[in-house]
Amino acid sequence: MKPANSVLSSYGTTIFEVMSRLAQEHGAVNLGQGAPEGLEPPDVMAAAARAMVEGPHQYPSMWGIPVLRQAIAVHEKAYWGQDVDWQAEVMVTSGATEALASCLFGLIEPGDEVVLIEPLYDSYLPIIRRAGGIPRMVRLNPPDWTLPREELAAAFSDKTKLILLNTPQNPCAKVFTRDELDFIAGLVEAHDAYAVCDEVYEHLTFDGRPHIPLMTLPGMRERCLRIGSFGKVFSLTNWKVGYIIAGPALMGAVAKAHQFLNFTTPISQQAGFAWGLTNRDDYVRSLPGILEGRRDRLADGLRTIGFAPLTAAGTYFLSVDVSPLGVNEDDAAFCRRLTTEAGVAAVPLSAFYQDRPGLARPSQTIRFCFAKTDEAIAEALARLERYFGG
Ligand code: PMP
Ligand code: GLN
Repeated sequence: MKPANSVLSSYGTTIFEVMSRLAQEHGAVNLGQGAPEGLEPPDVMAAAARAMVEGPHQYPSMWGIPVLRQAIAVHEKAYWGQDVDWQAEVMVTSGATEALASCLFGLIEPGDEVVLIEPLYDSYLPIIRRAGGIPRMVRLNPPDWTLPREELAAAFSDKTKLILLNTPQNPCAKVFTRDELDFIAGLVEAHDAYAVCDEVYEHLTFDGRPHIPLMTLPGMRERCLRIGSFGKVFSLTNWKVGYIIAGPALMGAVAKAHQFLNFTTPISQQAGFAWGLTNRDDYVRSLPGILEGRRDRLADGLRTIGFAPLTAAGTYFLSVDVSPLGVNEDDAAFCRRLTTEAGVAAVPLSAFYQDRPGLARPSQTIRFCFAKTDEAIAEALARLERYFGG
């Protein structure tokens, strides 16, 4: 048999699938994958259900249905102050995953350099490499995830096509500050580069921290492609509807990829989210407060058991240092043991890093998802307490 594509076949199964299947097999409380529970808005679901029955039932425009694109433009102005032309600068995608792939395939030419900031969401690197891009990685480390500015500046060159920036950042829950974003904008401009901005957690920042889209900084409007995900906005990750905001020139390039990857996204889901954006701003605004409470309950419980929780400034995720528990295995083995023996699934942070010569991956930090019901969090804590004899 002739070999399959060497880049893609060099990767194993994604950590989210692996841990969720393991959790299922062992009846574990799944605090691994970022799948929110107990937050799904019934009226958004009802709107999608109506659209599913009423139709239309055939392909919509590859750009998305007008009512959703118009609602996205209104949302963009209301939250981030950006005026966007819904016909030329808004495109609906099948989740942020497809939006990312469309941006990367649409822009990267083999040999282009792409700047990335570890820890990395798992779909970035395979797609960049498949597109022929050369990753230039800069690393953030626990516990404080400080941006190493000199290293970041050194990662840019004349060959840089783009930086892929994720804020709020999965899995480390870092929210980039205005000062950090100014620094990044300076590099993007100085090297005549673009920025693909993964902002799927745009509404999930905590303790009064602002989310600032890089695209809103001076000089960045025409260089950035801003990506969002309604699966995150409305806690319905199964629906897979994302969006891209970009100037017409960049959007044109990205549309060339989108039309051959997915082409369209189901109308019912689009209609449901259009209804939600128009009618449930209260939901969007209340979510961070609800998640803050869940984050704190989980962090407090884990601290009592002996874990050392790190700051979770945004996202669904709380990273914890497991070394105070006297762990003598790496984070991946520890997560497997936690799932199979304690009955609670988590995700190892090392899965979001690459091996590099002379640079060990963090091996004592794991990620818990706190976007779960109070009952699930309480049950997970009870199981961990029992297991660690707390
Ligand atoms: N980017 C990040 C940082 C994520 O955490 C996720 C999570 N699912 C995605 C992209 C993909 O989003 P979607 O489910 O809309 O494809
Ligand atoms: N973004 C989610 C997480 O980080 C998972 C998405 C997926 O499973 N692909 O857990």
